[in-house]
Amino acid sequence: MTERLYFSNDGLQETVTVTQCQADQDGLYKVTLDRTLFHPQGGGQPSDKGRINGAEVVRVMNEVNGVAHFTKTAVDIGPAMITVDGSIRALHARLHSAGHLIGFSLEEFGWRAIKGHHWPGEARVVFEASGTSNTPDLQELECIVNGLIKVDHARVLQLDGDERKVGFGNLPTYHCGGTHVARLKEIGKVVIEKIKEKKGQLSVFYTVI
Ligand SMILES: [Zn+2]
Repeated sequence: MTERLYFSNDGLQETVTVTQCQADQDGLYKVTLDRTLFHPQGGGQPSDKGRINGAEVVRVMNEVNGVAHFTKTAVDIGPAMITVDGSIRALHARLHSAGHLIGFSLEEFGWRAIKGHHWPGEARVVFEASGTSNTPDLQELECIVNGLIKVDHARVLQLDGDERKVGFGNLPTYHCGGTHVARLKEIGKVVIEKIKEKKGQLSVFYTVI
């Protein structure tokens, strides 16, 4: 299994060992490492991008045997420098962390988050009513979420084996394997684009600026 350094380490560069490299579909190569800083696609967010030595990493996926990195060119077996693209990582972390804030802000209105999709350009959190619920208007929710950002809580990470809980300051924690900002102010500003209620589910569409 690949050791998942990104679980507890925000680093973007590390020396690792390439254990396998084989030609895959679409002209790409599938590369396995002993340990990785690359966050794979999953948990509602796209994968990191970057480089393994000179080879461009276009996609990173969770597989049964560990984390698979798909590169445009082949990589030699042995020691290698991995570099995660910091601007892509930061955008995904900001969108994902904003999803947490929207999640527990809506809990106050009687909604429980059931699904998060934090992809750029299409980010949304989906809720189900838990008992009596009411729906805030767009501006009200935006004001609550950006108010939380202003407090600038630091991320709190609780690791227990494979279990990982992520929260900010004294705000509620979620079981989560994604990437997050270290402090809430790094999110910038959250814009609530649309709130849609349909068949007992509430979808909140948002972006960060
Ligand atoms: Zn998370």
